[in-house]
Amino acid sequence: MPEKMSVAFLGLGHMGGPMALNLVRAGYLVTGFDVVPAARRAAQAQGVPVSATAVDAVAGADVVLTMFPSGRHVLDAYRGAERPGLPAEAGLLAAAPQGTMFLDCSTINVDEAREAARVATEAGHRAVDAPVSGGVVGAEAGTLTFMAGGDDAGFETVRPILEAMGKRVVHCGGHGAGQAAKICNNLILGVSMIAVSEAFVLGEELGLTHQALFDVASAASGQCWALTTNCPVPGPVPASPANKDYKPGFTSALMAKDLGLAVNALNSTGVAGQMGPLAARIYDRFVAEGGAGRDFSAIITDIRGASRHHPAGGAAGAPAGGELPGAGGRNMTAHDDGSPE
Ligand code: NAD
Repeated sequence: MPEKMSVAFLGLGHMGGPMALNLVRAGYLVTGFDVVPAARRAAQAQGVPVSATAVDAVAGADVVLTMFPSGRHVLDAYRGAERPGLPAEAGLLAAAPQGTMFLDCSTINVDEAREAARVATEAGHRAVDAPVSGGVVGAEAGTLTFMAGGDDAGFETVRPILEAMGKRVVHCGGHGAGQAAKICNNLILGVSMIAVSEAFVLGEELGLTHQALFDVASAASGQCWALTTNCPVPGPVPASPANKDYKPGFTSALMAKDLGLAVNALNSTGVAGQMGPLAARIYDRFVAEGGAGRDFSAIITDIRGASRHHPAGGAAGAPAGGELPGAGGRNMTAHDDGSPE
């Protein structure tokens, strides 16, 4: 392979657009493609060369990198899909030259990642799954963390590409291990954010200031990322989304998605998880009731909304309130989180 590989970058959305641009800046020969013309135009305007079809993009590519919404999108694109009312989509596996590396950076089910690797290998290609964490900000800054699954040789092939888009690249094991690491981490994150949020609402009711609880828990055994970096109340961590009316950050919709993948993995492995499924239900409901686009730390507003008393209390700096108008009243407005404004 040439020193700088040619990369077909498919899926130029919120994450894929800036990631593709970082590959261009690092000197890779990138050809981008997205099924949405506006995404192609936006990437092109930023400096990412694009092609009119996926087949054109993968022709002659050393690596086919996908950054899609779900595993269904990945498998359909690999195999080719019949779409009602549209011409059949040619499969990427058939269109790519033999021995192409299929690098999927989407967040998808572990079983789907293994299936994607299996069909790619059967078609005479190579495969690595490498989902990311770090969000759009990390994609733009080139500071993503990649969790990779595949054999050693495959990992070494894609490592320089991943390093051009991120600051940390971890080889987690064989095919699917990257996805496994991602959803296990996000299971911890979703559950811990709910726990931290419950603790702050309870502290409010018990007369604790946010700062007092933070000062204790951040230096004690309650310490975790959800508390010390993405703190769900404004004040103690000035950069956390709670200080910006829960502008994401990491959206509740993506947390709900990742917890859904974790629940699928619990079910398919037979692990008797309880907190993961509960956290998934809590985030699903929050998303269904309007929280999709808010940072996932906004779950604290849901807990307050369902609590017996009005939030924040004098202890947290906002006026103490009375009873909620109705038990479990969940119709939130932008500022019903009780944050001082
Ligand atoms: P997005 O919806 O903005 O982008 C996905 C893009 O894929 C869309 O532009 C869509 O048109 C395109 N697409 C779908 N099928 C295609 C096909 N067959 N060929 C070409 N293009 C196709 O999503 P996103 O926010 O960029 O996320 C992408 C993936 O990264 C998801 O799996 C998500 O879970 C994961 N992720 C996102 C974030 C984040 O903060 N947004 C963080 C970590 C991981």
